[in-house]
Formats: sequence, structure tokens, C-alpha cells
Amino acid sequence: MSKKQFKAESKRLLDLMINSIYTHKEIFLRELISNASDAMDKLYYKSLKENIGLGREDFEIRLTNDKDNGILKIKDNGIGMTKEELENNLGVIAKSGSLAFKSDNEKVEDVDIIGQFGVGFYSAFMVAKKVTVISKAYGSDEAYKWESEGVDGYTIVPAEKDSHGTEIILEIKDDTDDEKFQDYLLDYKIKNIVKKYSDYIRYPIKMLVTKSKPVEGKEGEFEDYTEDETLNSMIPIWKKNKSELTDDDYNNFYQDKFYDYEKPLAHIHSRTEGTATYHALLFIPAKAAYDYYTKSYEKGLQLYSSGVMIMDKCADLLPDYFSFVKGLVDSEDLSLNISREMLQHDRQLKIIAKALERTIKNELKKMLKNEREKYEKFFKSFGLQLKYGVYEGFGANKELLEDLLLFYSSTEKKLVTLDEYRARMKEDQKYIFFASGSDVNAIDNLPQAEFVKEKGYEILYLTENVDEFTLQMMREYDGKEFKSVSAGDLNLDSEEEKKKLEEENKENKDLFDYIKESLDGKVTSVKLSSRLKTHPVCITSEGNVSLEMEKVLSSMPNADNAPKAEKILEINSEHPIYEKLKLLFDTDKELLKDYSKILYGQALLIEGMAIDNPVELSDLMSKVLSK
Ligand code: ADP
Repeated sequence: MSKKQFKAESKRLLDLMINSIYTHKEIFLRELISNASDAMDKLYYKSLKENIGLGREDFEIRLTNDKDNGILKIKDNGIGMTKEELENNLGVIAKSGSLAFKSDNEKVEDVDIIGQFGVGFYSAFMVAKKVTVISKAYGSDEAYKWESEGVDGYTIVPAEKDSHGTEIILEIKDDTDDEKFQDYLLDYKIKNIVKKYSDYIRYPIKMLVTKSKPVEGKEGEFEDYTEDETLNSMIPIWKKNKSELTDDDYNNFYQDKFYDYEKPLAHIHSRTEGTATYHALLFIPAKAAYDYYTKSYEKGLQLYSSGVMIMDKCADLLPDYFSFVKGLVDSEDLSLNISREMLQHDRQLKIIAKALERTIKNELKKMLKNEREKYEKFFKSFGLQLKYGVYEGFGANKELLEDLLLFYSSTEKKLVTLDEYRARMKEDQKYIFFASGSDVNAIDNLPQAEFVKEKGYEILYLTENVDEFTLQMMREYDGKEFKSVSAGDLNLDSEEEKKKLEEENKENKDLFDYIKESLDGKVTSVKLSSRLKTHPVCITSEGNVSLEMEKVLSSMPNADNAPKAEKILEINSEHPIYEKLKLLFDTDKELLKDYSKILYGQALLIEGMAIDNPVELSDLMSKVLSK
């Protein structure tokens, strides 16, 4: 009988399991029980659909602990596996375990892997030196035995088995100095593990348990007897009363079911009756999954119909902006036979989805109000998704999401909500000001921000690419328009100041036109500015595309035709350079051209924008410096 080799990835995972330093080795039992339960779910589901006549009560998981021989058995009467399935499911890592293994030179933390993916069947090798699987597929009369002692391969041979289902036989490892593997055979230990991880499994997990009772008629003497015991309560956690459950119960359930090694930030447990009747148990993870912001991430909630899982990731239950939510919905209103296509149009499902959206929103608002630190942690992980949500909906989701957003504030020096900003606005303040840049520091140094700050206004700092697009979609908050500090028309001057500037601008119109011409159409106008305090020049913009947006758009693929900002070169009328420009206009127009280009380049640099021709700019600077 020749040994077959595991696929390379499986081999690595196995190796990890066998030599695991993972401290929670006990989870192997949870994994095997949950596989058994899945297999029974499959058969039960099939029975319901095809009228086979099997009821829930016909299924059970049987544990047998043979302490003398060091053997633990986990047996189910589920759907079983054919020879091919044994080969495909246990010889390679199953779909759900399609491990995104890090490259070879990176050290793989096994804790990470168990945490992120759940390793299922292979976890048996953490505690067993030999694993035997005997299985008979439902409807087949052949049974097969799969056997492996670890990395060097496995065998599959025909076997005898009375009825359909699967039996897993673990030859438990010998005790070592550090680890008492044989303890996994003790009644109390097994009972504890089942209670802890598998209590909600909806089929009875039975075991013959040894108990002791007083011997009749003989005072003080006891004798052992065995009794079949069901170790789990079988009530799914979401159907239990909130008052019966602790945070630990919720956290354990979440971490086990959704393979997260961090506790969730919050859970939402609700029972709703009315237009739709359902239980929902939702979780807000603490951190974004490694693939969360990629296309491969699949959103969705598990969907149950009266306790039977009908879909693992029902995407229709979650809007994209709440796609980070994990959890499940169990409804009596959904038909078991509903197909994916039908689900999409199901009215009941739509009602549930709408209600869940509200629930999630309220939970987040509650967290924002009562647990700010936690909320900021949440926002760090998923704030980007909320901002995309506003943007992608073309503002349609604005109302739902706007009060969940946080931005860094120039005056508070921390993240604030739009409500908080709004409440601090000055009486005469027309706009909600914002400034964009790569980070808080860069924005702090923006000449445009300096002016607005000096006038005593708070500025929201936008540091993420999507930020400005999000605000543009929102247009205003609570009646106040958003305004970039780099916008051309800030309207912050007094009438008097405005007039003075206008006159000065008019007087020197020829100078400014000349500078504009020297810049070959790169700016739409050149003018004096009152906003600049210490810096000689800055760039502002007019129209729909701001400077920051131009930056973002031009960094995208195929950016050649990306729209550009209409730029204005503003000159500080208090700066000595202004006098110099006036002088050159009368004495040396050629040099004024060079000056114009250098000043424009400077303004771009301050703004963090790309210089069209760095070599030309640097040549010009050398030329002017050596004059
Ligand atoms: P996962 O359960 O996450 O898919 P596992 O490695 O635990 O990964 O199991 C791989 C596959 O083997 C399962 O998807 C299932 O098809 C099959 N399997 C495992 N245990 C059983 C069982 N007791 N009965 C039937 N099929 C099983």
C-alpha cells in the first residue's frame, strides 16, 4: 500500500500543527466537532429538500475516550465522504483553508494562522500522533479509511462501516515534560472543552461518562458506573437570553466562528418581531482583516432559516460601507429552499437588511458617544470604508454616515466629529474649513492654512486620498458648506481690506498678466492675496477640482486625461518679493519671467505637488542665484 503525499501547502500546515507551540491545542476538539456538525447539517438539509425523512433528532455526535489505549474517537452520522472526497478534502487544504502563506523567508507564526484561518481538520495533529478517518458517504455502500501519521503522507484503503457518517480516531500523543496530552482523554477535560467551545452545536454531543454513587447498604462506600450524557446545551447562543450570556461567551463565539484572534470591539444581539422576525448576532471586529481593503474580501452575514444555515456569506444583508461587520441572522420567515437568486429579490431579506443597517449605525453612534477611545480604534480600522461609503453612494448615504466620520482638528489636535466642529463654529463663520495634505505636519505648514488659523477658525485636516472627494459629495454639513483653505474665494476679508486689495490688483494688472503669460497657461490667474502672512506665494484653486484632487487623480493609473485644478498664483503683497517683481516689470522683463517660474515652482512644492520640469526649475534657480 503506497503512501500518498500531501500537497506542499498542506504539508507546511501539518508541520506547523505537529510542532505547534500554539497554547490552545484544545481547540482541535472544537474543529472536529464543528466539522461533524457541518456534515450533519448537510445531510439534514438534503433530507429537508428531498424529503428523505431524517429529522434533527436522528443525528448525534458521539465521543469515546479510551484512556487505557490513549484513543479519542469523534463519530458523526452526517453526510460522510466518498473516497474522492477523503482524498480531496483531507489530502489538501480545503477551500476555507486556502492559506495565503507568507513567503518562505518570512517566519510564519502558527498563532497567526490559527487565528486568521482556522485550520480545521489538521488541528488534530496538534494532539494526535496518528489520525484515522473512516467514512461512508450517504447513499453509498462503500466505506474508506484514511490514515496518516503526519507529514510523510497518508493512505486510503477500503474499510467496513455500518452506516453513513464519519469516525475520526485520534491516537493521542504521549505526555511530555511540558504537556499533558493524555489529559485530553479525561471526562472532565472533554466536558469542559465542549462546554466552552461547542455548547451551541445543535446536535447532541454524547459521551459515556463515568460517575460514582454510594453503594446501597454499605455506608461510606462508592462505586463507579457509566452513564450516557449530552455534553452541550444545543441552544445556539443567539437564541439564548442576553441575561444568560457574558461578554466572554460572545467573544469566544465570535473568535471561534469568525477566526479572529482579537476580541471584537462590540457585539449586537437582537431579537426582532414584526414585519420581519429574526434573531441577529453581529460583531464589530477590532481590526480590518488582512484582505479587507482588497477585492478578494467577501462581505456578508451567515444566514439561517429557523436554525439551519442556508448561506455562509449573504452579501445582501450588509451594505458595502458596513462590510466589516461579521455575524449571523436567523429568521423564521425565510424558506429553506430559497436559492441565491431568489434571495436577492426576497422582500423579507430586504426588510431585515434595512433594519440591520439602522442597528449597526446606532451601535456605532452609541460607541462614539460613550466609548470614544474604542470608537477611535474602530475608526482607525474602518473609517476609510465609511468615507468610501459616502463617496460611492454619490452622497446618497450621507445622512446615515456623516455623523460617524472623524477628522483631525487644527484647534483640538485630535480627531473630532462634524457635530463637534459645528458646535464650535464662530457666529460669523460661513464655512467648515478643511485643508488637505499628506499628513498633519505638512498641513500645519501650509501657507493657506496659516491665514485661516490666524483668523481664529478651526480647520479639519484631510490626510487620506478619499477625504476631499467625500466632502465634495457631502457638500455641506448641517447647513454649512465645506470650504478648502486653498479655495480661491474664502471671503474672509473685511469690506475695507477687500477694496484695498482690489485696487492694488487693478493697478498692477499688467504685471500680473505678464506673470501669467510667463507661466504658459499653467495658471488661470495671478493676483495679490491677503491670506499670506510669511510665505511669498501660494497656489489656490477655483472650480470643481481642487489641488488635492488633482494630486490624487494624477496618481491613478491612466491619469493622462485626468482633470486638473484651475490654479491661481497668489502673491503676498506684504512680502519684499512683491516690490522686487514690480521693479523688474519696469527694468528687466526677461528676469521677471524667470522669477515667475521659480515662484510658481515654489508654490507647487509647498503644496506637495509635482513640478513639471524639475531640471528647468533648478537651472533657473542657479541662473538667478548667480546674477
Ligand atoms: P473546513 O471545515 O474549514 O472546510 P477542514 O480541514 O476542517 O476545513 O475540513 C476539510 C473538509 O473535509 C470539509 O470542508 C469537509 O468537506 C470535509 N470533512 C471534514 N470533516 C468531515 C466530517 N466529519 N464529515 C464529512 N466531511 C468532513
